[in-house]
Amino acid sequence: MRGRERGPVVAVDGPAGAGKSTVARKMAERLGFLYLDSGAMYRALALKALQHGIDLRDESQIVDLLRSSQIDLVGNGRHQPTVWLDGEDVTHLLRTPEVNASVSLVAGFPLIREEMVRRQRVLACAGRVVMDGRDIGTYVLPDADVKFYLTASLEARAKRRLNDLKAMGFHLDLEVLGEEIRHRDALDASREVGPLRQAEDAILIDTTDMEVDCVVEMMVDNFRRRVS
Ligand code: C5P
Repeated sequence: MRGRERGPVVAVDGPAGAGKSTVARKMAERLGFLYLDSGAMYRALALKALQHGIDLRDESQIVDLLRSSQIDLVGNGRHQPTVWLDGEDVTHLLRTPEVNASVSLVAGFPLIREEMVRRQRVLACAGRVVMDGRDIGTYVLPDADVKFYLTASLEARAKRRLNDLKAMGFHLDLEVLGEEIRHRDALDASREVGPLRQAEDAILIDTTDMEVDCVVEMMVDNFRRRVS
């Protein structure tokens, strides 16, 4: 289906801590679109695997777990979306150091990605969505009307994550966090299916020295110029 037949679709990709979820959510709010955080789906699955004590290297057990799991993203862009896992609100459990350390392993399995991508395409099929992730513009929604690729220096990204974690009551060392982000990016960029990569037609924005509102303004402006 092409962009003209459904509502517009915006894809936002980039490495960990580049500010994707904050700006994608705010952009969705500005446009009155649905915000879909694809990373939250992988995080919910990683959380469930941890809770069930499943070996994170065992693809078939994790695939079985996913197939029997209901993951719902509920939100309108105004607030952080609520993530429901099998009917339970797990939003506050998704950004812990344990999930951060496990999610890229779980997301690296081809069968997991196949099922997640299928679910993500269903969620986006009516259009009027902003979806963020790693492979949205390249693979999940290659026909997206506008694609952005957000990046920032490793230091800026680590500092943002440090502040996010501090707000949740976790106190981590900046260097340790930088190393964790670097490791996650390496796993995300090197996997065979759906690797982290800038789509050829994506607009690159380096958010290192930019305020959130300024990034959102730039994205909304680009969207309005391309989708009239
Ligand atoms: O965006 P966020 O940092 O919450 O994503 C968590 C992890 O989920 C990423 O590091 C990546 O391993 C995985 N992910 C993915 N594909 C996506 C979104 C997230 O593999 N589209």
